[in-house]
Amino acid sequence: MTDTPHYRVVILGAGLCGLSAASYLEEIGRTDYLILERGARAGGLARTTVVDGFAFDHAIHILYSHHPYATDLICNTLLNGNLQSQTRRSFCYSAGVHTPYPYQLNNCGLPFGVVLENLRGLIAARMSRRREPPPNFESWILRTFGRGIAAHFMIPYNRRQWAWDPQEMSCEWITDRVPQPRVRDFLRGAFSPQNSCGPNRVFWYPLEGGIEALPRAMIARLPPDRLRLNATVADVDGRRQAVGLADGSRIGYDHLITTVPLPSLIRMLGCEVPSGIRELAANLHHNTVHTINIGLHGALPDPWDRMHWVYLPEAGTVFHRVSFPSNFSGAMTPPGCSSIQVEVSESARRPCDRSALLRLSLDGLVKLDILSEQESRPVAEGGRVRVAGVVTLDPAYIIYDLQHRRTTRVLLDYLAGMRIQSSGRFGAWEYLNMDQVILSGRAAAAAACP
Ligand SMILES: Cc1cc2nc3c(=O)[nH]c(=O)nc-3n(C[C@H](O)[C@H](O)[C@H](O)COP(=O)(O)OP(=O)(O)OC[C@H]3O[C@@H](n4cnc5c(N)ncnc54)[C@H](O)[C@@H]3O)c2cc1C
Repeated sequence: MTDTPHYRVVILGAGLCGLSAASYLEEIGRTDYLILERGARAGGLARTTVVDGFAFDHAIHILYSHHPYATDLICNTLLNGNLQSQTRRSFCYSAGVHTPYPYQLNNCGLPFGVVLENLRGLIAARMSRRREPPPNFESWILRTFGRGIAAHFMIPYNRRQWAWDPQEMSCEWITDRVPQPRVRDFLRGAFSPQNSCGPNRVFWYPLEGGIEALPRAMIARLPPDRLRLNATVADVDGRRQAVGLADGSRIGYDHLITTVPLPSLIRMLGCEVPSGIRELAANLHHNTVHTINIGLHGALPDPWDRMHWVYLPEAGTVFHRVSFPSNFSGAMTPPGCSSIQVEVSESARRPCDRSALLRLSLDGLVKLDILSEQESRPVAEGGRVRVAGVVTLDPAYIIYDLQHRRTTRVLLDYLAGMRIQSSGRFGAWEYLNMDQVILSGRAAAAAACP
């Protein structure tokens, strides 16, 4: 009989949350832990793929935080000397016009009829404020912004980004993510583009290495033997406090911190889980984001060469957001080159044709006049495209369906009863940013080793 190795804390997943949990355990000298990561590289969503000298994050990843601990850790410890502060240059493209983000505060330049409709809707919404909370996200949009802004930007953009109907989503995730205008701010922004606000108005981005510089800096501070890569966890035995790996080996624990998606974790617990819990977990929804990465010979054209990213609410392109990694840091491309990344969301409700994504994305870039027809061809055919590929993030965003809060509460309570802490973006099944998952990993480790 072989002895099962045993650790005080086993951490499932080496994304930012799992790495942060490990960092905390190192900090307090509780080094009897092991991280199990199914990938060949740590970092989870915060990774950067490099192809022929072109670096692409797995979708735009900018850093910002209002939390003093996360800010200090990111800026003064992990990325000290490899971080640049940037003022956001993001836009919304609708009715053939670029307006600065956020749309609801910068209508200057839009056709007069659209501005008028947006203003009328906003005033009407403000005059009919209701006391009872909005029943769903669409209703929140209509009550907050009115019919004009809802129809021209908010509803179509959110449908595209979430690949889910806003009527079937709650609005509990919004907090300060979506700036809400006063009528006088709207009026000011209708005459001149000046309203720049929101939590990421100024953000940080690594000078070198893309966003993966962040998890790499965390890994560099951990002893190498605490992180096991290519280690897919296949089952969890909550009663015996052990995890089973895909290679058949088993590892025991006193405390389990898991960052794997909540529905997968419940499946891994197998038949010990009551059927009601399994049913709840099976009803959690998420979307998938495909990032289509294009490396170009030569520079981006004006005005795209000055932009970080652009939101696209209209159906003319397959993608809902286009960004320009080469405008975040010169180190993202070889010299004399530039790069573009577009994002396409899909979900069980709104599937897309994955085989056509690359072609449709290049068509979209031509439609937007970022590339000409000829330029959108590979360099070998006289075009400018040196690199083109798709990276799929699945899951990408959890869906705040109308049962979300009740479902996650029941599931997390159930797991806590087995001394399993499910943390991070997909472990807690919440819309969390990088700074928030770093905090969530730290809190999970502190709870495991008080
Ligand atoms: C499109 C998009 C854009 C974003 N932009 C930003 C941004 O601009 N700013 C920002 O702050 N945040 C952004 N985020 C959020 C950010 O990426 C996440 O909050 C963060 O990276 C999540 O970290 P995590 O450790 O919780 O999860 P993950 O990164 O998902 O890590 C979980 C890890 O668990 C591993 N795993 C899963 N199953 C198993 C298994 N069975 N066995 C072993 N290992 C397993 C996975 O391989 C993964 O490495 C964005 C997210 C998306 C999708």
